[in-house]
Amino acid sequence: MIMVSLWAILFLLVMCGQSALLVWYAWPAIRRMVHCPWCWQSCHVMKHYPPRWSSTMCPYHAHRIQAQLALKRAQRLSHACEVAR
Ligand SMILES: [Zn+2]
Repeated sequence: MIMVSLWAILFLLVMCGQSALLVWYAWPAIRRMVHCPWCWQSCHVMKHYPPRWSSTMCPYHAHRIQAQLALKRAQRLSHACEVAR
């Protein structure tokens, strides 16, 4: 009976260690996903966003905003070309 409980405790310890290691390695990615104000805004909970958090951008919104900026830049360039003509 003691051996069984010892094994159970060992198993739990290893599980806790593994999950702690996983969280430790994935923490920057988790933080980037959770601290994205654009995600909070799209979920309509922006007023609950903690002001002490430094805002980071999740990969999805980073990609979207870069695409928007590229579109604006292209529009501005084409407009400038039309004006120059
Ligand atoms: Zn986001």
